Amino acid sequence: MQQHDILILGGGPSGLSTALHLARDFPHLTSRILILEKEHYPRVKLCAGGLVADAEVILEGLGLDVTEVPHVDVDTAHFDFAGRGISLHIPGTHAIRVIRRNEFDAWLAEKARERGIEIREGIKVREVRANEDHVTVETDAGTFEALIVVGADGSNGVTRRSILPHAPIYTARALEVLTPANDLAPAPGKADHHKDHAYFDFFPVPDNIAGYTWDFPTQVNGQAMRCWGIYDTNLLAGDSRPALKEVLAQELERHGFDLDSVELKGHPIRWFSPENQMAVPRVLLVGDAVGADPIFGEGISIALGYGAVAAKEIGESFRRDQFSFKGYKARVLRSALGQTLLSRWFLAQVIYLIKWRWFQILLWRLVKPVVVITAWIFVLNWGRRLRS
Ligand SMILES: Cc1cc2nc3c(=O)[nH]c(=O)nc-3n(C[C@H](O)[C@H](O)[C@H](O)COP(=O)(O)OP(=O)(O)OC[C@H]3O[C@@H](n4cnc5c(N)ncnc54)[C@H](O)[C@@H]3O)c2cc1C
Repeated sequence: MQQHDILILGGGPSGLSTALHLARDFPHLTSRILILEKEHYPRVKLCAGGLVADAEVILEGLGLDVTEVPHVDVDTAHFDFAGRGISLHIPGTHAIRVIRRNEFDAWLAEKARERGIEIREGIKVREVRANEDHVTVETDAGTFEALIVVGADGSNGVTRRSILPHAPIYTARALEVLTPANDLAPAPGKADHHKDHAYFDFFPVPDNIAGYTWDFPTQVNGQAMRCWGIYDTNLLAGDSRPALKEVLAQELERHGFDLDSVELKGHPIRWFSPENQMAVPRVLLVGDAVGADPIFGEGISIALGYGAVAAKEIGESFRRDQFSFKGYKARVLRSALGQTLLSRWFLAQVIYLIKWRWFQILLWRLVKPVVVITAWIFVLNWGRRLRS
């Protein structure tokens, strides 16, 4: 039996951010943290790697410069319905920065280690049991006992399933492929996709796919590529829908690619709902284990944000020597992170449940200033408020 004070299960952005914020804000706790990660860095994580500005703001607050990681800067992001809609270009800076998760997560783990945080790779957690005065964590490398546990093990994580086995699950489906960047074909009836631009297209919504397709520039080992995908919140799951794969295949075909010639991968994304439980005594959840952004499935900045809020909760719990985590959900909801998540949850119901073509055209093409102002106030720009 190995005993530790703070066990963080999962070494993705949420687990690493929790550890890095603890080390920054409560340095006396640094040597008491152990992260267990089932893979070895640099490990594969299915993700388009789009980093919004709030992610960079949180990383800057930790003294980290993400430009150290290979990346592609997106000059303009388009939010379209069937090829036409809103273009977001911020003069003098990028709209989104695209990283590869194997590189980004390995970099973040290295930064955590440099700050004295212990990470053990290749240890898979099998079960988590919260007891009155400790938490038992069964792994394939034996049993660990901890004063507290942070469940940072993602959308399918074993921590949430162990501690909240009957909690409702709101999960999106996402499929992703990579294609070469150089032979982008112009799409009939659609504007050509520009190499520095990212595209989100909500055309599948009237067909009961409550989501969008995306097309981002990216790089793999320095070679320019495009990352394409489709996201469906499942908010319209009761209605008949085309297969997600078929819709993505049609979108790729419009741009000259054959889905059968590229490797298709899929992964669920658990999204935030105000109903989601976040903790039980001695165990709290962060990142996808609680829930990502429901509108886009955007979860990297959100995972980094959960880390900041969880670190405050943990630091104060150690100060009070009281680990009920009763106030954690209220702390999350009161924070700038919670406010953006609540707004995004509400907006997802509007965008996806009013699914008719006329509404989608109105939203993405006709009331652009309303959408941009709403996004600016309620969706974006929360990272700085979280830091202050
Ligand atoms: C197809 C797709 C595209 C996406 N694109 C974007 C995007 O462009 N931008 C964006 O912001 N978000 C995107 N997301 C969402 C984003 O990937 C997640 O929100 C984010 O990774 C959440 O971070 P996390 O740390 O909570 O979980 P994860 O990144 O899933 O990390 C969990 C970690 O826990 C480890 N782990 C899991 N189980 C165990 C276990 N039993 N024992 C030990 N370790 C374990 C895993 O190996 C992993 O390292 C996308 C997701 C998908 C599926």
